[in-house]
Amino acid sequence: MAIRRICKYGEKILEKKTRKVNFAELKKSLPALLADMFETMNAVGGAGLAANQIGLDLRLAVISIKREEEEPLSIVIINPELVEKSGTMNEEEGCLSFPGLFAKIRRAVKVKVRAINEKGLPIEINAEGLFAKALQHEIDHLDGVVFISRLPLLSRLRLKPALIKLKSRWKKIDESKMAVRAPAQVVKPE
Ligand SMILES: [Zn+2]
Repeated sequence: MAIRRICKYGEKILEKKTRKVNFAELKKSLPALLADMFETMNAVGGAGLAANQIGLDLRLAVISIKREEEEPLSIVIINPELVEKSGTMNEEEGCLSFPGLFAKIRRAVKVKVRAINEKGLPIEINAEGLFAKALQHEIDHLDGVVFISRLPLLSRLRLKPALIKLKSRWKKIDESKMAVRAPAQVVKPE
């Protein structure tokens, strides 16, 4: 297992729609890849990680949601598709490709997602709240959509000068070379 470097805002692969996974082709290397993805996500305290965030053009992501007095809810989604959504919420979100940046993003409260799991079996997930938010965030990644592009135009414009500064700082962060991540500076758009 190894911690991989996470691609940061500005790296082209984050803005490109990922390629559908051919499960039979990937099957052999999948366990090692998923182990690395979970290790990387956990090392930096993330709730989700998409394959293109570690530089791989693959439509797959891992999610891990912390729960009170319970094991985290961990799931692998391969070739996920959002098939239903309802309600709206406007909750704070962060992203491992934007370390320390948090913004309120409008999302559906409830979603239905179809995907295949790490065994290659079809799954249907009905999620709400935090879990629904994570699923939407990761599927967006796989579609080449980063969370700040979901901000209203005015907020995006206000954030731009800070982003330009942060971008050069983020570029230098290499999670694969870090034992413990230094706390990132927290930035919140108005
Ligand atoms: Zn993200």
